[in-house]
Amino acid sequence: MKKADCIDKFLRYVKIDTQSDDSTGTSPSTMKQHDLARLLEKEMLDMGVSNVVYDKDHCYVYGEIPATKGCEDATAIGFIAHMDTSDEVSGKDVKPRIVENYDGGDIVLNSEQNVVLSPNDFPSLKEKVGDDLIVTDGTTLLGADDKAGVAEIMAMAETLLTNPDIAHGPIKIAFTPDEEIGGGTDYFDIPLFGAKFAYTVDGGKLGELEYENFNAAEGVVRVHGRSVHPGDAKNKMVNASLICYEFHSLLPVFQNPMYTEKREGFFHLTEINGSTEEATCSYIIRDHDEALFNQKKELFKAAGEFLNKKYGEGTVEVTLRDQYRNMIELIRPHSHLIDNVKKVMADLGIECIDQPIRGGTDGAMLSYKGLPCPNLCTGGYNYHGKYEYASVQEMRSVVDILLGLVEAYSK
Ligand SMILES: [Zn+2]
Repeated sequence: MKKADCIDKFLRYVKIDTQSDDSTGTSPSTMKQHDLARLLEKEMLDMGVSNVVYDKDHCYVYGEIPATKGCEDATAIGFIAHMDTSDEVSGKDVKPRIVENYDGGDIVLNSEQNVVLSPNDFPSLKEKVGDDLIVTDGTTLLGADDKAGVAEIMAMAETLLTNPDIAHGPIKIAFTPDEEIGGGTDYFDIPLFGAKFAYTVDGGKLGELEYENFNAAEGVVRVHGRSVHPGDAKNKMVNASLICYEFHSLLPVFQNPMYTEKREGFFHLTEINGSTEEATCSYIIRDHDEALFNQKKELFKAAGEFLNKKYGEGTVEVTLRDQYRNMIELIRPHSHLIDNVKKVMADLGIECIDQPIRGGTDGAMLSYKGLPCPNLCTGGYNYHGKYEYASVQEMRSVVDILLGLVEAYSK
């Protein structure tokens, strides 16, 4: 079998700035994401992918590798990755560099700015001795999240197309915008995509498999106070900022991201703004367990009601908005999605790291829209920052996992 390499593709894709931006309100949120979409459309057409559809309105690219002879009735399986990068750190002028045969020491990313990628700060590096690592120049993120996934899916597709003797069922691939700002599935066309099941390739360390994520909501507390000259404020002033402070004190102290892990949920105060007259605090609320999640939302509302009883109706306004839900209930009935990954990894000698995500994925959204969709590893680390890196060897192993899944679903 002649295997296509994912690394040259990856190095090409990360040089294209595709940073999304949650302040624009448009879809896609930034027009520059089209630069990568256009390139992917061209590369897909050049390698012979069928039914390539580029949704130019919303910046999605879809394609298909039709089943080989005799496998037409096999289950159609899909692979999805997102093209955008985090809005937290610039993805412009990314200059990837390969550190060959990593020796386990510090990697100076940028000597002028003294940016050092060190195993003391990032213990994952200690397991990477001997790998070739792709790193940044210390001024941007790398974009392995999720261009590693994009490159791996493209390498899998190219491998299938250049080796027509590999038997496989219908394979669907798609690349999406705006995952980082929570808009990656807004315009995803599941009927057009045509797969019955899919995997997002958007995780981290080799071996990671994720199909259990948080239930998620955001809560905003608006407090209306009454400003009065402090010299004359007795029994008249209502300090909105202090009521925000009081609201927070009504939430369980330990249910905070600083003190929780694994399947423990939390209330996270993300922002607080206030004066005497008006104050606002914003939260995100998370829990894997649906009952505990609902309890948290009830408690959040009850805290507002208590303060309204104390300070007068209308002092505190609490709004809650559900963001995404735990996909596990939708994956469980299709256990082959998990069993096949575990078997493929075992055959490749890769240890499967099966763990709940303390976050969400586009796959969770897609699962609720009718496309059950666990998340696979990419071989990338330290996402959303200048210390982001990827292992060449792990990325190539991910391509092997994808090819193994293609084979598993050919039967
Ligand atoms: Zn991602």
